[in-house]
Amino acid sequence: MPRPIEALIHTDALAHNLRRARQAAPDARVWAVVKADAYGHGIERVYEAFRAADGFALLDLNEAERVRTLGWRGPILLLEGAFEPRDLELCSRLDLWHVVHNDAQIDWLAAHKTQRPHRVFLKMNSGMNRLGFAPHAYRSAWTRLNALPQVDEISLVTHFSDADGPRGIGHQVQAFVEATRDLPGERSLSNSAATLRHAHLPEVRADWVRTGIMSFGSAPDHPEHDIAHWGLQPAMTLRTRLIAVHDLQPGDTVGYGSTFRAETPLRVGTAACGYADGYPRHCGTGTPVLVDGVRCRTLGRVSMDMIAVDLSPVPDAGLGSEVTLWGRGPHGSLLPIDEVAHAAGTLGYELMCALARRVPVSVVA
Ligand SMILES: *Cc1c(COP(=O)(O)O)cnc(C)c1O
Repeated sequence: MPRPIEALIHTDALAHNLRRARQAAPDARVWAVVKADAYGHGIERVYEAFRAADGFALLDLNEAERVRTLGWRGPILLLEGAFEPRDLELCSRLDLWHVVHNDAQIDWLAAHKTQRPHRVFLKMNSGMNRLGFAPHAYRSAWTRLNALPQVDEISLVTHFSDADGPRGIGHQVQAFVEATRDLPGERSLSNSAATLRHAHLPEVRADWVRTGIMSFGSAPDHPEHDIAHWGLQPAMTLRTRLIAVHDLQPGDTVGYGSTFRAETPLRVGTAACGYADGYPRHCGTGTPVLVDGVRCRTLGRVSMDMIAVDLSPVPDAGLGSEVTLWGRGPHGSLLPIDEVAHAAGTLGYELMCALARRVPVSVVA
């Protein structure tokens, strides 16, 4: 028998969450952001549910090829553009739209031989200082691109650093709007957090939103808001079973380093999931977990292949009981990935992306 751990990808949740993105920005088109192999879910597994999107945005060229191989003929956007000149050949061949964020990429385009002129998204660095042209350099980059026969349409794009937090997006929206005022072209500004929190503003919705994390069922501004607040559903479940149960006496300890010590008699279950499955090792005692759909807590350190669970809330649990690490549990129970991420001092993004290869994955409706 295989080890009992498995991951489930819920296509109904993916489709639902994508509809939520549309509702939040009704007059905008929606890029389904599927970089990092669809945030760890697998591009092939999410494709059907996301075909209702207006395009796929990602950054690895091989992932773009996979989306074309699946039969997608609509827009595909490379969020970081070309990494070297020959990437542009693939853009021509597969009709990939690509971000242009620096002068080298314009030089490569100018030297590129293509039958088919490209659609490019010119990126402004409106304050995040990661990629893009500064507002004062933006217009001259646009003018250079606009003069190239290799380019047929230029869209305008920027990215927010604080759409999920207290600083907000006002300063970046202002920089972008001012520096692009009389430039033609479609605009795209918003990630999930901006789409959920700020897309009531038309200049923030703009022509295209780029939603990633929300479509996978994680709240971009957790813990301020959770997925229930935003009407999102978990798209990934990680579940396993109890493979051992122990009765502890006061003074007994659990796991490596004996970081948990029982003060009262306690039933402890050993679940077949550890950091080699992608479960974060930084989750200490008290991380939420569901056993037979009942909320329990982990005890002690996460090992490579196992974690200990306090079974006090589920006296009926025993060998073989179902353990939900995140996602959907039995009897309609739910454990948002964001809660586990929070306990590990990280984000839902990182946990999804880190699902280990050894975990078998199935797609369910
Ligand atoms: C990853 C990414 C997004 C999507 O961000 P989420 O927070 O997952 O919605 C949008 N735009 C760019 C440029 C990105 O790199």
